[in-house]
Amino acid sequence: MISYQEALQLVLDRIRPLPPVEVPLEQAGGLVLAETVAARWDMPPADNSAMDGFAFAWREMRAEEELTVIGSVYAGACWNGAIGPGEAIRIMTGSPLPVGCDSVVPLEDVVATGDGIRLPALVKKGQHVRRQGEEFHDGERLLEAGTPLWAGEIGLLAAAGIARVRVHPAPRAALLSTGDELVELGQTPGPGQIVNSNLYLLSSRLREEGCAVLPLGLCRDEPAALARHLAAGEQADLILSTGGVSVGDRDYLREALATRDFETVFWKVAIKPGKPVLFGLFNGLPVFGLPGNPAAAAATFELFVRPALRRLAGFSTVGPPRLNAILDMEIRGDAKRECFLWGHIDEIDGRRMFHPSPRQGSGQNRSLQGARAMLPVPAGCDVIQAGRDVEVMMIRY
Ligand code: AMP
Ligand code: MG
Repeated sequence: MISYQEALQLVLDRIRPLPPVEVPLEQAGGLVLAETVAARWDMPPADNSAMDGFAFAWREMRAEEELTVIGSVYAGACWNGAIGPGEAIRIMTGSPLPVGCDSVVPLEDVVATGDGIRLPALVKKGQHVRRQGEEFHDGERLLEAGTPLWAGEIGLLAAAGIARVRVHPAPRAALLSTGDELVELGQTPGPGQIVNSNLYLLSSRLREEGCAVLPLGLCRDEPAALARHLAAGEQADLILSTGGVSVGDRDYLREALATRDFETVFWKVAIKPGKPVLFGLFNGLPVFGLPGNPAAAAATFELFVRPALRRLAGFSTVGPPRLNAILDMEIRGDAKRECFLWGHIDEIDGRRMFHPSPRQGSGQNRSLQGARAMLPVPAGCDVIQAGRDVEVMMIRY
């Protein structure tokens, strides 16, 4: 059986970023830029005041000099008059500096006189002035292709006059639930039935990752029905299904895929939970068959699907962030498989602790309750003692 790292590499080798599309800037948050963007003008567009105060022309020996205030200029306006020696103009933050002025003294640093102000003992030439183009110049490269656009980048692009950008779109994931025992949420399960909780778990996780979800519904364990449901997923960028992928008598997913043009890249990985995970390409479309057990579906989502989604979305880093933490209880590994233990992270006396979930059963949604991290334990690792430093994969901060 292949290892996690080998399997992940096979996934990443098969997936390319989605072709770029042009979107209005307000729809670009969370997406990855697919072009280099340059500024369309100087910022600031002209020298302006960094403070509410008074603009004046600096000269040597101006300490404590009295200036007559001859007018005011507010943000959004310009002072078009002249200014003579011994004069100042009241100016508000962001207002263009009047011609002839080069320095600003803040309101709180002056003493009011009859019709003007007295400067403080120390004023420096050019003080409290934001120079034209000091933030960026017309034509300056602001962001490179491959940059994720978060609020800071969106604000910068708006300031530079960029109204539309080319980005890799958010992937659309089709989600299929399989299992004769499943009922929809809202129905009361009859004997032998359970609610299709994986649909909610995975849709929620997909939305947290910024993906659109295309539900393919609930399918019974029957090869022809499965093949029909899967075909509806072809409009998406990736298909996810849960259940029916193991070696049970009614695990028909592989059989259903085999009736289509499906290339199996791998089936079964030496991991726990999630061993029966399947990955392949359906006419070039990535398909993941995740196990039905909730904690196994969730683990394989983080281990394989999230990196695949991030690759589709154009991110250069696809793996989860890793942090060091101190293990708070002894845990055991597996002789043959790499284990991934769910747990939560907190800080005690300034030390980051990893607390493995008390229930690690792959069949339990409760293993995932509060879990924000997974601890990888290499195959063949017998025990890790409490108090040891470990590296955990962060699922959410
Ligand atoms: P399977 O992978 O189909 O053998 O299913 C393994 C276990 O996961 C069984 O106990 C199923 O009832 C359970 N299971 C399968 N699909 C779901 C689902 N969508 N939501 C919750 N549990 C599921
Ligand atoms: Mg099943």
